[in-house]
Amino acid sequence: MNNPMILVVEDDAPVRNLIVTTLKTHEYRYLTAKNGAEAILMAASHNPDVLFLDLGLPDMDGIDVIRQVRTWSNLPIIVISARSDDGDKIEALDAGADDYLTKPFSVEELGTGPSTPTGGFGSTIPPAARIWTARS
Ligand code: CA
Repeated sequence: MNNPMILVVEDDAPVRNLIVTTLKTHEYRYLTAKNGAEAILMAASHNPDVLFLDLGLPDMDGIDVIRQVRTWSNLPIIVISARSDDGDKIEALDAGADDYLTKPFSVEELGTGPSTPTGGFGSTIPPAARIWTARS
């Protein structure tokens, strides 16, 4: 069985590298996208198991990426954003995000899972993909 495929959408290279390093440590497969258009294209063409999404992208708002992906896919979307306003969180979750992680975050948080505002997030993704809920 193949390891889950994670699509990492982040234009900030250091943050992207941090996430990728964490995924490698957990032996996940991953793809990266640096903007919203690329993210939507890759989500459609590669059918990833989980989407890690930055909201502040150079070409479009991450919220719009969520809305577009949600028109055809229910894959788990984890927002990773520097925006900590409750309004932004609510907007992202309303658009269809499954969880919201505020930057700066630690590698530890990535590996062990943030709190889950929607509750029960761990049950929405395949057991093998639960890096958010289980320390490995
Ligand atoms: Ca960004």
